[in-house]
Amino acid sequence: MPIHLTSQSRRKFLKRTAGGLLLSSTLASPDTVLGDENKQTRTPNPVSGDVLRTQGELTANGQQILEAERAIPVAGTTNVLVCGGGPAGMGAALAAARAGASVQLLEVAGCLGGVWTAGLLTKILDAGNKSGIMAELLKKFAERGSSIARDTSGTVYDPEVAKLVLEELCVEAGVKIRLHTRLVGAVLNQDNRLIAVITESKSGREAWLADQFVDCSGDGDLGAHAGCRFDVGVGADCSCQPMSMLALLTGVDPDEIRPYIRETGSEAKRRLLKLMEGHGITPSYRAPTLRHLHSGIYSLMTNHEYGVSAFDADAITQATIDARKEVHAIVNGLRQLGGAWKELSVVATAEQIGVREGRRIRGRYQITAEDLANGLRHDEAVCRATFPIDVHALDESGNKEISRQFKINGKQPYDIPYPALVAADVDGLLLAGRCISGDFVAHSSYRVTGNSVPMGEAAGLGAAVAAKKGVLPHELKWQEIKSFAS
Ligand SMILES: Cc1cc2nc3c(=O)[nH]c(=O)nc-3n(C[C@H](O)[C@H](O)[C@H](O)COP(=O)(O)OP(=O)(O)OC[C@H]3O[C@@H](n4cnc5c(N)ncnc54)[C@H](O)[C@@H]3O)c2cc1C
Repeated sequence: MPIHLTSQSRRKFLKRTAGGLLLSSTLASPDTVLGDENKQTRTPNPVSGDVLRTQGELTANGQQILEAERAIPVAGTTNVLVCGGGPAGMGAALAAARAGASVQLLEVAGCLGGVWTAGLLTKILDAGNKSGIMAELLKKFAERGSSIARDTSGTVYDPEVAKLVLEELCVEAGVKIRLHTRLVGAVLNQDNRLIAVITESKSGREAWLADQFVDCSGDGDLGAHAGCRFDVGVGADCSCQPMSMLALLTGVDPDEIRPYIRETGSEAKRRLLKLMEGHGITPSYRAPTLRHLHSGIYSLMTNHEYGVSAFDADAITQATIDARKEVHAIVNGLRQLGGAWKELSVVATAEQIGVREGRRIRGRYQITAEDLANGLRHDEAVCRATFPIDVHALDESGNKEISRQFKINGKQPYDIPYPALVAADVDGLLLAGRCISGDFVAHSSYRVTGNSVPMGEAAGLGAAVAAKKGVLPHELKWQEIKSFAS
């Protein structure tokens, strides 16, 4: 959609920048040299490559750019907009579309699946007691995957199979998918209701309107941009669990290294650690997990990057570089053992380092460690979580494995209530996946993907029903949402 600044707004801006440094980057089309008036009216064009140009002024102290006002084209209008196409976002988009809503899914990576695919995860935890979309995905991953996928009921899956299955399901359900697109802003109306999000991509800066929104970004990007309160990590310094780089390996015969394969039992991790340490390899995560996916392709998780903020691009970059280096060094070290390991090599490291913790957006219910200890039963339960408290070591001083101190009060199976998926501070916003409302300890349990998918399914359904009825998600009870869908 073309954008035209009025000549009045152009004049206003030129006046504002008078005396300042007028920034102008090189035009995308070398054959067009425009006058000052035209420079401001360029229209993003996917064919010619034209971009909506940035104008700005450097502040006197040289620390900031004052960006000029500009009109953002509206790229789409839907009933439900889902930010993030990971396990939670998949559940949300599919459920909303199948309930009859028009759905836009925005994803920054080049594939759907989040940590399942871009993160090369390969294992779905806490999915055994789930029905709905989670059960459907497991069935597909098993049917379309290897004999190992079938033997594990789809919980050990091939990330490439997952990429394809997720795209097929979304396309079939009529979900509009936009990959390679990052959410960078949110707009509320005067009634504190979320009405639009802003993205950046090769298509430039765009706005997307929707009746209802679901934050499935993992890190809670949408909630934060919308102005919601949130919590990060634990303690005054917001300590978070480490990030981890996963990798796919090949070059070894599964029969020759079977005792080290995780699916033979948890002892496999200790054996692999012993093998590594016995040969001078000291991994930063001391519970190395090796899974056989199919035909001599394995996944390996044996890296921890400590103290990295999910909101610091420089820190994430450094962690990614360090992690990749460690993975290769470990594989090279194992290869030096010779014998069964002599051809071990890396097929791929994850494009996205695995992020365990981002923001926990405040919802209308906060799941707490006490809820886990007491085995919460809630009349608006969207699913029941059974996974243990699982806080990975927060720094290198301890066992570089799992922090036992947070487990002391214990855990019984507990309910995840619908109000924990409804943002407390902004209307028209639901949450699903690891960014829902809970405390540090509870998050370490409910975050796994067997829970993220049903949370997404519930939030997507809630959003679709709210859009259909013309109400806000907090005005609905979970029972009403469920009965509307069935
Ligand atoms: C190293 C590691 C190992 C783990 N092991 C397991 C395991 O074995 N089994 C298990 O079940 N769980 C495991 N977990 C936990 C689990 O992976 C996460 O908690 C889970 O992925 C949460 O799902 P999600 O959809 O909320 O988030 P994510 O999988 O993180 O998905 C979020 C999606 O949103 C996208 N996104 C983020 N920001 C934006 C933005 N601004 N604009 C557009 N898109 C955006 C991302 O690209 C991503 O696709 C592990 C996690 C890590 C990090």
